[in-house]
Amino acid sequence: MITAATAQNLLVVSDFDGTLASFSVDAADVPVNARSLAALTRLAGLPDTHVAVLSGRHLEGLMQVCHLRAPIAFAGSHGNESSVAGEPTEAQQEALDFVDRQLSEILDEPGAFVERKPFQRVAHVFRLAQEDPARAQELLARAAAIDPGETRMTAGKQILEFSATDVTKGTWLAGERERVGADVTVFLGDDVTDEDGFRILGGSDVGVKVGGGETSAGVRVAGVEEVSDWLTQLADDRSRHLGFPRDTRARFEWVAAGLSSVVFQVTDWDAASSCEGWSARDVVDHLATWFPEAIGAEAVTGEPLEQWFGLVEFVRERLAENEKLVRSVLITDIFLHTWDLATSQGLSAPLDEGFAASLLRAFESTDLSADGKFAEPVPVAEGASVMDKLIAQSGRRP
Ligand SMILES: [Mg+2]
Repeated sequence: MITAATAQNLLVVSDFDGTLASFSVDAADVPVNARSLAALTRLAGLPDTHVAVLSGRHLEGLMQVCHLRAPIAFAGSHGNESSVAGEPTEAQQEALDFVDRQLSEILDEPGAFVERKPFQRVAHVFRLAQEDPARAQELLARAAAIDPGETRMTAGKQILEFSATDVTKGTWLAGERERVGADVTVFLGDDVTDEDGFRILGGSDVGVKVGGGETSAGVRVAGVEEVSDWLTQLADDRSRHLGFPRDTRARFEWVAAGLSSVVFQVTDWDAASSCEGWSARDVVDHLATWFPEAIGAEAVTGEPLEQWFGLVEFVRERLAENEKLVRSVLITDIFLHTWDLATSQGLSAPLDEGFAASLLRAFESTDLSADGKFAEPVPVAEGASVMDKLIAQSGRRP
């Protein structure tokens, strides 16, 4: 059990590159860990739990590679760009131009380049380092020796950043903690700039350093894969600690986040599901069709990922006037289809035993198959888990 899971109001913030995603020569196409996205999504669906991704990347670039959705917040350029983003002042722009001119001369060869973010200039040699590590180090050393003028220089892995603002991951994190009123903050990161974040943590906060190197974080994990284990544990512990929400809106967010977390891990949308004749894609299509049509609107369409998140938005906007249908039918349906979608991919579904038990009691007292929406209950062993009994009761083979 991770102690932070029991916080009154929890803030979970993660760096992106090297933490949620592995490195790649193509920064626009990095391998993102789907289990970490799943765990963060589940956390964000829980009451009194806030989640953000805080990256050194330009905000726009970050959102192109990280497909997490609201209510998860994004902050780019170490926190310079988020909901409170502004434009550089004239003085900041001059300072950036001054550094830019010097860096451009040094990094004028294949595999090295200057990245231009609104408040920073970043020297990159990652690609060059793959072919000629010595040359990459030489260029980086020369870049480190330039006159930084009014900018602040920070070294990272194969990068050197010059920032025209005082906003660091630490100041952003402190501001966000204040904004959401968190009593416990969890921050995960792998790089030198993440130390700014670890340093502002205190008390019962948790800093998780990814990989080697000196750190002021209290917890260390080996790599991107271990981050996903840790985040999954945190999501499991906090879900169990909070139990399933009573309030309809909170319960919808919770159950929808469960399915969203599976959506991020789907690798084959054409795989057969446990619903007779339906592929994984059809499971999402079913949800995105019946609910809108039941309230006189048009089905939400699109590719499965867009279709699912489109439905979630659709429900959020219409929940108040359709609370009864959402509470008594849609939430149950999403819960059961989370199991279908997960098993179609060979994944285990993150389903709450307590909620499953309450549904099972309700199912056992009604004839579900009477209106033809459910198949006849499937026989199941006496000692089967609550979830398996529920699945069998709803006419699926667990
Ligand atoms: Mg990183």
